[in-house]
Formats: sequence, C-alpha cells, structure tokens
Amino acid sequence: MTKPFHPRTRMIHDGSDRRGFGEMSEALYLTQGFAYASAEQAEARFDGSDPGYVYARYGNPTVGMFEERLASLEGAEACFATASGMAAVNAAMFSQLSAGDHVVAARALFGSCHYIIDTLLPRFGVETTLVDGTDLDQWRAAVRDGTKLCFLESPSNPTLEIIDIAGVAQIAHAVGAKLIVDNVFATPCFQRPLDLGADLVMYSTTKHIDGQGRCLGGALLGTREVIGGPVMEYMKHTGAALSPFNAWVMLKGLETIYLRCDAQATNAEAIARHLAGHGAVKRAVYPTLADHPQHALAMRQMERGGTVVALELADKKAAFAFLNALEIAKISNNLGDAKTIATHPSTTTHQRLTEEDRLSLGITQGLIRLSVGLEATEDLLADMDRGLAAM
Ligand SMILES: *Cc1c(COP(=O)(O)O)cnc(C)c1O
Repeated sequence: MTKPFHPRTRMIHDGSDRRGFGEMSEALYLTQGFAYASAEQAEARFDGSDPGYVYARYGNPTVGMFEERLASLEGAEACFATASGMAAVNAAMFSQLSAGDHVVAARALFGSCHYIIDTLLPRFGVETTLVDGTDLDQWRAAVRDGTKLCFLESPSNPTLEIIDIAGVAQIAHAVGAKLIVDNVFATPCFQRPLDLGADLVMYSTTKHIDGQGRCLGGALLGTREVIGGPVMEYMKHTGAALSPFNAWVMLKGLETIYLRCDAQATNAEAIARHLAGHGAVKRAVYPTLADHPQHALAMRQMERGGTVVALELADKKAAFAFLNALEIAKISNNLGDAKTIATHPSTTTHQRLTEEDRLSLGITQGLIRLSVGLEATEDLLADMDRGLAAM
C-alpha cells in the first residue's frame, strides 16, 4: 500500500508483514538471531546477496515493519530505527563526519544535541559553528568549503523558534553540505522536511510516535544511499539498535498518530490563545499565534502549530507557584505524551547551561514549556487558570 492512499490510511496498514497465521496485529519477533537453512544461505546473508535477517543489531522483522511504516509517513526512501533519539543524532553525525570537517548548527537545540555538537565533535577534530538559526545571513556567513553537515530543529526546544528549512537547505547545498532536521517538535504529521529540501530527518520516537510515554526510540530517514550506506554501517557496528518490543509499541503508535497529534494540536492552540489573553502571562508562544516572531514562516512551513506551547511568567517564583498548583498537568520533562506535561527548562532540561547562554536562547527563569496532551480542553484550560491564580 503506498501512493494513492492518505497517510492516515497508510499508518494503519503500511509495513505490515504477515507470516504464518495471518495475524491481524503485527507480530512481535522477540529474537536477536536467525537460523539459516544451509551453510550456503548463511554465507549469502553475510555477503549481502541474500537480503534476509542476520542479527538484531542490524535488523529484526518487527523493527523492519516499524521502519517501513515510518518511511511511508515521511515519504523517505529509507529509515533506520535506533535505541533513542540521541542514538539517531549520534549516528547522523559520527557516520558521516571525519576530523577536519565542519558543522554548522542552529544555537537553539535540544540539550543533548548541543552536547554532541558543541562538546563531543570538537574533541574528534570536527569544527562546529553555532548560529542564530532564524537568521539566514548567519547561516550564509558560517558555511564554507569543508562544511559537511548543517543541523537544525524547528520549532526549537523550548522557545519554539521557527527556522526556514528550505532556505537553510539551499545554503547548505550551495557548499555541498547536507541538512539534517530534528523534526520532533513539528511531528511527522505537520511538517515535511524532505519536501522542503532537507537530506536527513531525525526523530526521537520516544515522543509523539510512541505517544503514551512508554518506550525510548529514535529514527533517521533519508535516501537509500545514506541510510543504507554510512548510517547502516555505523549502526551495525556501534550497537544502538531499537529493541523489537519498543519497535512494536512504536508501530502501534503510528496507527493513531494523526488522531493524537490533531487532538493535541487543537488543545495546544486553545491553551495558547487562553494564556495569551491573560494579564499575568508576559508572553505565550505558539507558532500559529499572530504575534509569534516567525508567524508567516510557520504558516507556510507547517500544517499545524504542533503540540507544545511556551509561556513566560514574571520570574522563577511565579513559575514554580504555577507548576505546583497544576492538578492535571504533570511536572516532568518528556513531551508528546497523551498526558499534559509542564517543564521549567531553566532548572531542569537546560540546567547545564550558564545563565548567560540560557538568556541568549530566550530561556528565562519565568519560562514554562507545556507539552499538551489528550485531556478534555475545558479541563486543561481550568488547570491553567488554577496555576495562574496561585501566583
Ligand atoms: C527528546 C528529544 C531528543 C532526544 O531523544 P531521546 O529519545 O530522548 O534520546 C532530541 N531532540 C528533540 C527535539 C527531543 O525532543
């Protein structure tokens, strides 16, 4: 099943590989090894002339079904699933870079992506430049001969900056660099980086693809040449393979991803509009609000604004009072869950940064990130009011 069907239909059926019993729900192949019919077949599996499975570090039938379904959603030629989102970022970088190469990335990054790019890569002789991702002139000034990869996240965590993916792709390609997009915040339902010119898309499937806060997982999507070449080679030998059980959970997650993300985006937009009109809220940030700094770009680049809202209160005291008064939203740091989650980035996810670095990213002591879940809208709005009243 592929082209003429809507992605919502494809997410229910694509990738299913029934064997033996005609089972309706995809089988969970909890096996790390595979028996060969003969010594000749074993030899052929290892030299690649027989395309079957060899070892679960390289691939597994349940993981394979998940990869095929996600590739169908993304419109990608190939997908490699990984043990976590960070394993996918690590593989995207280390499978393609060598000492002497140069990387340009947007400064507003998920904390661990920042660590890989800013701390780890330089230790191995890769030079990295961080830019204000929203300013195409800074990307233009930063790329050069020897720039191998560009990396960005849009919307960014946690301030929801929107970066012009098509614009950065053009700048990267002009010097022969590839663009990798961390599409976690946008979700595969609402933004299509490959159509905008990106070369690789990365997911933490821990987030909306699982969608119910159960398992860690990740994925890299792109051409067969890159995914089946350097990425496959790197993953085979370095070991961060997705477990079959987690792949099975994610495969079932994809069946409901449109329903969930649509309902969560509807809730997120309602909360953003509600907060924007409240006197005690300094700033409510959501891509489809007219006062978002990159509103026009967001409307062009995304189908919907996503499931995350940021709000800025007066200071840390107000933020903590707000958080502690919430009854429905949980204080935690995951996102994309069916349960609404509230995070105080400056004391948790971004605690590692200096206050100066945090402020340069717009992460003030009053900033709160809300990952909006599937609860009834009126209950969530009442929860926000409870938080605001407690300040
Ligand atoms: C969660 C997340 C990651 C890392 O994914 P893990 O599955 O936690 O390793 C990377 N980027 C973004 C934007 C994320 O939200």
